[in-house]
Amino acid sequence: MIVGILGGGQLGRLLAQAGYSLGLRFRVLDLSAEAPAGQLAELMVADFNDTDALKRFAKGLDVVTYEFENVPVDSARFLNRRVRVYPAARALEAAQDRIAEKKFFQVLGIPTPPFTAVESWDDLESALDELGVPAVLKTRRFGYDGKGQYVLRNPEDAARAWHSLGGVPLILEGFVPFAREVSIIGVRGRRGETAFYPIIQNHHEDGMLRSSLAPAPEASAELQREAEVFAGKALDALGYVGVLAIEFFEVEGHLIANEMAPRVHNSGHWTIEGAETSQFENHLRAIMGWPLGPTAVVGCSGMLNLIGALPDAGELLSIPGAHLHLYGKSPRPNRKLGHLTIRANDRQLRDAGLAKAGKLVGDEGWGEGATRRRGEGKKGE
Ligand code: AMP
Repeated sequence: MIVGILGGGQLGRLLAQAGYSLGLRFRVLDLSAEAPAGQLAELMVADFNDTDALKRFAKGLDVVTYEFENVPVDSARFLNRRVRVYPAARALEAAQDRIAEKKFFQVLGIPTPPFTAVESWDDLESALDELGVPAVLKTRRFGYDGKGQYVLRNPEDAARAWHSLGGVPLILEGFVPFAREVSIIGVRGRRGETAFYPIIQNHHEDGMLRSSLAPAPEASAELQREAEVFAGKALDALGYVGVLAIEFFEVEGHLIANEMAPRVHNSGHWTIEGAETSQFENHLRAIMGWPLGPTAVVGCSGMLNLIGALPDAGELLSIPGAHLHLYGKSPRPNRKLGHLTIRANDRQLRDAGLAKAGKLVGDEGWGEGATRRRGEGKKGE
């Protein structure tokens, strides 16, 4: 069985790693000959809009999936006329545009921050009158890892934000004074069965995920249920097949949806060691039409992204409970080069390991307590 993956980044690479033990083979399509998944799967280098290349890519594949959400929707539809594509193109469509995504959430009764579409400077001025500051101006499309967004702390920031982002469709969002950020990873199989991992606490800096704690500390059963209900509604509404991640802000013990990713997600990397079945394996099981695997956690985990530079692998691996995943990329500032998961039997051991790892990666702001230390807000009840 051969699985096609649109996108050859680390997520494709980790999918392939999970799939080999299930007897699957992989063909990835990417713009770059250096794509990390190409080191261990057949790589086709082409533009995602090149229909001749898409035809060649599809030949002999059993199923196609994607590992990044900016695959052109038309290309996913084009491929779907030749081979099954999961998740369906409409999931891409809903996730690619921040306005469409928020409207999708609202229709399902999933709370979102207040927002307004911004096409012109006049729109921005009236949106600011409506939403006030602080607010976040973002590009509607193609934003990732904090790129394409600007926090407006006072109205005078608007001109600079407009100067750096204007010219493409934008969205202004009210700034959410969140207690913390969490995400849920859910998976839906071809027969509509679903499974969810415990919610994860995430720490972002400059819009980029730095670390995750799983399960999220002190997450109540109600919070977990709320996240599962929201994710379940999104999965069912899209007739979704595969893994879907939704990122939330937690405010006063409730969830406000920030965005969703129709793919495996960085905040779920800990599942490789920290859950009975990883998100990667479960995504593959779902798209192959196989039974989903158990999502129960094994101990507790913390994940640190290795960004920009790599500490010595031997030193990282000397930390008890450490599991290292490197993506085969050359170092570059702000580039995700790998991640380290610390899996332990209790929180104290996990936190001790994370503290050591944090020193080695020069990021001592990992997870728990980081929000408090950085004064970004007070934890809600
Ligand atoms: P995004 O690309 O939308 O996921 O934004 C990246 C990060 O910026 C989020 O994880 C938050 O830390 C922060 N952020 C984005 N939007 C908002 C918002 N409306 N209010 C507060 N923080 C935000």
